[in-house]
Amino acid sequence: MAIADADIRRVREATDLVAVVSESVALRRVGRRWVGLCPFHEERTPSFTVNPELGVYYCFGCHARGDAITFVRELERLEFTEAVERLAARAGIQLHYEAADDARAGSREAFALLDAQARWYAAALEHPEAEQARDYLRERGIDEAQWRRFGLGWAPRGRSATLRELGGTAAVAIEVGIRARGHDGSLYDPMAGRIIFPIRDPSGRTIGFGGRTLVPSSEGVAKYRNTPDTPYYHKRSVLYNLDRARHVFLKEGCAVVCEGYTDVIGLDAAGIAAVATCGTALTDDHLRLLRRYVQRVVVLFDGDEAGRRAAEQVGLSAHVVDLDVLVGLLPAGLDPADAVRADAELVRRAIEDATPLLRFRLERTLSRAELRTPEGRARAAGEALSLLGSVREPLVRSEYLAIVAERTGFRESDLAARLPRGGRARPAVRLDDPTLDRPAAAALACLAADPSVRDVVVPALFRDPLYRELAEALHARGTAPLADVLDGLDGDVRELYHRIAASGLDGAVDEAVLVLVVREAEVELRREATELASLAPHERGLRHARWLERMQQLHSLRDQMGDLETAGALLQYLVEARSVSTEGSSP
Ligand code: ZN
Repeated sequence: MAIADADIRRVREATDLVAVVSESVALRRVGRRWVGLCPFHEERTPSFTVNPELGVYYCFGCHARGDAITFVRELERLEFTEAVERLAARAGIQLHYEAADDARAGSREAFALLDAQARWYAAALEHPEAEQARDYLRERGIDEAQWRRFGLGWAPRGRSATLRELGGTAAVAIEVGIRARGHDGSLYDPMAGRIIFPIRDPSGRTIGFGGRTLVPSSEGVAKYRNTPDTPYYHKRSVLYNLDRARHVFLKEGCAVVCEGYTDVIGLDAAGIAAVATCGTALTDDHLRLLRRYVQRVVVLFDGDEAGRRAAEQVGLSAHVVDLDVLVGLLPAGLDPADAVRADAELVRRAIEDATPLLRFRLERTLSRAELRTPEGRARAAGEALSLLGSVREPLVRSEYLAIVAERTGFRESDLAARLPRGGRARPAVRLDDPTLDRPAAAALACLAADPSVRDVVVPALFRDPLYRELAEALHARGTAPLADVLDGLDGDVRELYHRIAASGLDGAVDEAVLVLVVREAEVELRREATELASLAPHERGLRHARWLERMQQLHSLRDQMGDLETAGALLQYLVEARSVSTEGSSP
């Protein structure tokens, strides 16, 4: 059962975000905003801001963002419904539940189909024809108790579940990636002939599958195949086994990540909770997801050269999410599954003694370097310093500088002077976003706070596609609640909205619009001038006269900084010029 939308709206309206946040964060007022230390990442200077007018928060450090529901949800790790219930109780609102709407019914159908397929695969693994698959698993040390625990399965060749057996339609089966259409239009199971590893979301629902072929690699078949990206499965943000491992991670404050499904299962047998990426390297999205549970992430690798090289590629932007990423190296030639069977203690030690990622990369760089000549040492120092550019904590940085100094023989002070700019001390308070287009952002902030300004804050004022998209959404909002508009936005556009809301841009709407009209009319008139110049004189005719008139309006508006009425004609001009094509102007 879902909570009625009207009730969710009432809860949002009745909730004072500043009061909710204040229960766990000490906030102080700065202009129109409230700021404090971010509860989602460790910091000593506040980068967490709350905009009470719009009811949203944003962190300039870790980019956490959202409204009161998101805040409670992320902080206390609740499901959406639970978070709404918590806030409703706080505000004394009685909730009503209703049958799920079409969209929810649609996703319920998808999850039911994925679940039915998972159970069908699992049953097929017990079938006589799956002998080869069972042998493979036994060879890998995966016993029957573990097949069941991880819901492993088998997708037979030449025989797949009928949609009637699974209780779904062809359209949904294709949508969730369990069926594809062949050249002749018939449906087939892309996993046929593979051992199946069901992939679940953190709440335990099956969202996709990984499949391992039993065909020898010499025959050119991909060893692993995964469900393609679907509305329910995004490989860049999915972690295998997170649904089972997250409780342990939360308790221990540390997450273990490895590369393969069988590694996860092998570690599990030794009582070590781990997750694996599904056919991709570890991305920022994976790290953000893990950041909800832990502060420390150990990535386990085979200690051979290939493993070390892979480790070097990991989570280069770990500092972005303020997570400690460490590299755990196993004895050369052993993957985690082999290693844990040989000696579980060895693996535990690799996790405990893991090397901070940066230190690992620094050592690799220095060990490769030619340190006998001054030129070689200078080159090594330069490479090492470029790695240190991302370190924001001065104490950590100086410790690494000492290592570089010792190994290359240069003075620490000389090296420090050559540190890339990003690595120098950061400003005490990071509460501003220099990348925002300020007049455009200010105009949009006004439009979000007060829909009645939509006559003057029109989409034609915005040239950047992101700003334009946000302007269109806010403009079309009518009397709908802001939260509904935000729900419909793409991630990038929503991020922009939160950055704008967090920047607490002040000022009257007139002023922002005037600046934009002058700036954008100039761009548009310049573009039209080029167009006119390419026409024969007799073709220009009236257009040229009108162009001159607008040019004069622009000059008088700019020189005297007139009022909105003077700007009206040019605003109208922009609307007309840009309604034909949004691509019509050059940036
Ligand atoms: Zn933060």
